[in-house]
Amino acid sequence: MKVDRRKFIQLGAWSGASLVLPDRLKLAEKRRKPWNEQSAKVTRKHRNPRPTTCSLCDNHCGLITYREGDRVEMLLGNKEHPVAGGKLCAKAYGQLDRLYDPDRLLKPLKRVGQRGAGKWQEISWNEAYEVLNRKLSPVYANQGRNFAFINGRDELLTRPFLSLFPRATLVESDDQLLMQRFREKIYGSSICFRNYRECRYLLNFADDPFRSGDAFVTEVQSLVEGLNSNGLKMVTVASRLSQTGGKSDAWHPVHPRHYGDVAKAIAHVMVANRWYDKKLIAQLGIDIADLKAYLSSFSPVSVAKNTGLSVKVFSEIAQELSHRQPTMVIFGDEVFQTENGWENACAIEMLNVLCGALSAEGSLKYDDPSAIAGTTSKHLTDNSVASGWFFQKLKENNEAQVLISYQANPVFDTYDGEWPKSLLKDELQVSFYAAFDTYITETSQYADLILPMATELETWGLFSRRLNQHQQCLSLRQPVSRPVDEILLLRQAKVKKLQLFNPSLAPVESGREFNQVVLDLGRELIGNPASGPFIHQKVEGYLEALVAKIPALVVSGGLSYLKKVGFFVFTDEGKEIQPVSFQIKDLGNTQPYSPESYTDTGFYLVPFAWHVLDSQTANSKYLAELRHENPVWIHPSRAKKLGIGEGDKVKIRTNSGDKVVRAWITEAIHPQCAAIATGHGHSKVGRVATAEAIADHDPMTKSLLSRKALFYTPFTLRLNSWDQKEPIWWKKHGNGTHINSILSGKQNRDVSGITLIEPVVKIIKA
Ligand code: SF4
Repeated sequence: MKVDRRKFIQLGAWSGASLVLPDRLKLAEKRRKPWNEQSAKVTRKHRNPRPTTCSLCDNHCGLITYREGDRVEMLLGNKEHPVAGGKLCAKAYGQLDRLYDPDRLLKPLKRVGQRGAGKWQEISWNEAYEVLNRKLSPVYANQGRNFAFINGRDELLTRPFLSLFPRATLVESDDQLLMQRFREKIYGSSICFRNYRECRYLLNFADDPFRSGDAFVTEVQSLVEGLNSNGLKMVTVASRLSQTGGKSDAWHPVHPRHYGDVAKAIAHVMVANRWYDKKLIAQLGIDIADLKAYLSSFSPVSVAKNTGLSVKVFSEIAQELSHRQPTMVIFGDEVFQTENGWENACAIEMLNVLCGALSAEGSLKYDDPSAIAGTTSKHLTDNSVASGWFFQKLKENNEAQVLISYQANPVFDTYDGEWPKSLLKDELQVSFYAAFDTYITETSQYADLILPMATELETWGLFSRRLNQHQQCLSLRQPVSRPVDEILLLRQAKVKKLQLFNPSLAPVESGREFNQVVLDLGRELIGNPASGPFIHQKVEGYLEALVAKIPALVVSGGLSYLKKVGFFVFTDEGKEIQPVSFQIKDLGNTQPYSPESYTDTGFYLVPFAWHVLDSQTANSKYLAELRHENPVWIHPSRAKKLGIGEGDKVKIRTNSGDKVVRAWITEAIHPQCAAIATGHGHSKVGRVATAEAIADHDPMTKSLLSRKALFYTPFTLRLNSWDQKEPIWWKKHGNGTHINSILSGKQNRDVSGITLIEPVVKIIKA
């Protein structure tokens, strides 16, 4: 914007005025009516509030939804909810787009052509149940042998349903499983809370809590409070300058393979100076002389030579880590993406043991994952495997599998997406595949049967979460909208020339809740169960039985209370969790890694994910607009040598193929590395995900938008507001590039996971 003298004076006047005027946000806040007395601004219609819980990450923030008639018009954070106090992240608001998305599935689909050919026949739910029962009965009889469940998200009845198939394989996403396995091995629990609020020094290895996290909003709140009110000092060691790195007091760019060496050099200083938690070291049975001998090769001088950091950096970090108590060390998924990822993670975790981060307030706390039995659980089973590992094993195994996936998209998410694609197509490998999904995705397109799933705002869930050592919070997710049938109704009205507002017109089918479907299937498989979850006809009945186990809640009114308030806080006896296993041999390599040097066009590619984009949220227009491009980050020194300028098209080349992307020239990346965001480049999951305008290809939407009298209805207005006739404004740039398909994963037998082994790519000007 050109600022002339006149504009400059205007701007000055405005900014001066804004200083003297009261805070408008605070005023608006004061004037806002209580949550149960909201009404629409223009029409003054009463907005019917209903509390529920966001379940798009493990934070489980409290929500209030507001309905006018049958339509959910607005969604806000529940200020009374103790977890995030009414604050929400962008993902929560994206749920409304999903609820009213014209591209979501509302009828079961049966494949009629070749797998993946995209030919479907709409069938009734009864017919879909018949097919599922026929396929699952023999699997149930053999206890789930040759049955795999690909889990995209945990639900209330996921584990009870899987308990019917004790020999089944539970397939989880790669990065989640690695982190969970790691935490379970060392602490016996995968649930970890980080108290940044009271922390004084945070050492961060390639994590980005300001971008995403297991408990995103709460962690950001706690970090901001720690930084602003408690003098928290934050130092980041990472290949890429992330949001968190940018807010840190120092960022030390390091090649990902050297993260473990940096941790060991810091440990070397701490051990040499006896700056460690002697009690915890003794409790874990670590022989400090052995540790000292092991660390002798990782002197700051030798590690500094290999990593390019100065010796002073290691001494300073070691000193602050041990003296600026309470302190803690965190690391992100990126650490696991290198070949030596597991050992690097162990080396970083060793720093937490040395600085006593596990025994102080203001640091890390591990929690019992099954705190309230029966709530939605993330507990891994012995049969849990990573999806990359599963598909590689499937190839080696000669026995065909029956597969069910729930809101999972491994063809898109797994590194080397070619594996799952070719296997899913092959009926000799996968004899039957049913996808429980809200969309036709890159994975569900290969299903024999797709069951349309209701979204989070239409379904039940119950989540437990520890607030502090003696308090737990139980949060209810409840249907705030009937499973959507409006769009289907419209389409049928158009096709069958029906009277649109005939009150007796009932929708034929609609999306159903996963919990209800598996409850129905389980009952059918067992026969007449005498006890257990499958005695219940409805999910609500199962929930009633669950909450009846908490006496304090029963006194307050049980499920009715939860439905009205949305959450319940009660006291319990906290359980102290300490490391159960930590051995020097876990630290791996006894010598520092040789320095990496890629000359010419070679780069070490670091993929990273945005919080807002995943396969479940990809078709939220609001979220897709926040992140719709994924340029590759290149350091200026390397770009100059290769003649690459800002915004130039470049080819990223691996043994599996090429991808053309735009270059972003930035000093925010280690010169030997390049970085790129994942989650982009969808070819399925609805039109927003693929960057197509709604009106371009949908005759129904076209006719609605052409404002023919018959179809100019409130529904028209909704679709009209969901998207305009014009293309999506970022259509020209597309929806980014799907990079996973040209990267390769390697099986890690120890953890049934994968590590990325082919991150070395070539980048050339396109
Ligand atoms: S942090 Fe965001 S995604 Fe996670 S529960 Fe809260 S609102 Fe939902």
